[in-house]
Amino acid sequence: MKKLELHWQILLGMVAGVLFALAMVQFDWGPKLVSDWIKPFGNIFINSLKLIAVPLILASLIKGVSDLKDISKLSKMGGRTIGIYIVTTIIAVSIGLTIVNVVKPGASISEDTRNELVENYKGDADSKIAQANEQKESGPLRALEELVPDNIFSAASDNGNMLQVIFFAIFFGVGLILIPEEKASPVKKFFDGFNEVILKLIDLIMLAAPYGVFALLAALVVESPSVDLFKALAWYAVCVVLGLALMICVYILFVWIFTKRSPSFFAKGISPAQLLAFSTSSSAATLPVTMERVEEHMGVEEEVASFVLPIGATINMDGTSLYQAVAAVFIAQAFGMDLSFGTQLGIIVTATLASIGSAAVPGAGMVMLVIVLAQAGIPEAGLALIFAVDRPLDMCRTVVNVTGDAAVSMMVAKSVDKLGEPKIKEWSDHYKVEK
Ligand code: ASP
Repeated sequence: MKKLELHWQILLGMVAGVLFALAMVQFDWGPKLVSDWIKPFGNIFINSLKLIAVPLILASLIKGVSDLKDISKLSKMGGRTIGIYIVTTIIAVSIGLTIVNVVKPGASISEDTRNELVENYKGDADSKIAQANEQKESGPLRALEELVPDNIFSAASDNGNMLQVIFFAIFFGVGLILIPEEKASPVKKFFDGFNEVILKLIDLIMLAAPYGVFALLAALVVESPSVDLFKALAWYAVCVVLGLALMICVYILFVWIFTKRSPSFFAKGISPAQLLAFSTSSSAATLPVTMERVEEHMGVEEEVASFVLPIGATINMDGTSLYQAVAAVFIAQAFGMDLSFGTQLGIIVTATLASIGSAAVPGAGMVMLVIVLAQAGIPEAGLALIFAVDRPLDMCRTVVNVTGDAAVSMMVAKSVDKLGEPKIKEWSDHYKVEK
């Protein structure tokens, strides 16, 4: 029998997980059973993906940069990557602002609901505000300062320090370009082989993906808050989801125009990574799969994918920036504040920067939202308003974050003539012993 394609398998796992959880919540003992016996398998799945994120970035970036063989190529690709990332982020924030200003979801929140939400989620909101304040107290050049690690092992020991690992890998790759070929060659070969091993590990982990997402979604459903609060925030959620859907259309259009690859080619290639982003709410955990899909199924050559994607996973968060813009204006509306045009322009700048600064882990966008709120003079306590629906929206915005990285990698690849045909492997190749 022909094996179902990966995205269908993952989708089946997700649907089965939701149905299973809905059945379990009918029993008193059901939610505990899911938390104790199902959820750990979801966590094991996410952990195994995160486990290989740092080694993957190190090996693939060092290999990718050294393969360029020329510093000017590196700066050309780097400039394009950062440039396109910033453009897509600004488009995302602008879409979010337009929708929230037209729909005005905050205006429909009654004062009672507002107070109830603030009351219910005050504690949760306060802890996010405290996390954000730690970041806010630093000086203007702090982000730049933090880019350079003082110890590569301690940088690599924390998944939150991806940018530092990226810095080291690029720096190391540049060193490799600059030394004589015969000295560089054994080091390159080592990272080449290392990279292959990591890619194989991704294949193996993905064999468990349908089961992993089953466990993740089942746990999420039994732990989700009451439906009533969701209803009060429905319009806000609709605005975010609508904006995110539009953003996906923008990517499809860009890829179509700039690379001549059809929407179905793009959708088919990236969908397993999207489903995984949705299930894990983490671009970092999804990165290994995004890289595999983009290289094997979307024709982006390895030296481009290995450079563009790890950087994108950490700094290019279009879904997050769009959500931050909608959330900020929604909170202002709910508090009866009128935001001037100038303030909204300010939101474009702060949401772009805040999304760059958000870590690629669940809930990070909400922490950085505090900074957007503070800059625009919107009460930070408003964070409590949107807490109830943050997780599902986080799942959706992570899909957009990952899709954006993949789309940009195709555009950059095209611009440097590194977009070829996909090298799709048979499903059975994944666990075949390679000779
Ligand atoms: N969860 C998002 C990501 O990993 C970040 C966020 O918006 O919270 O891409």
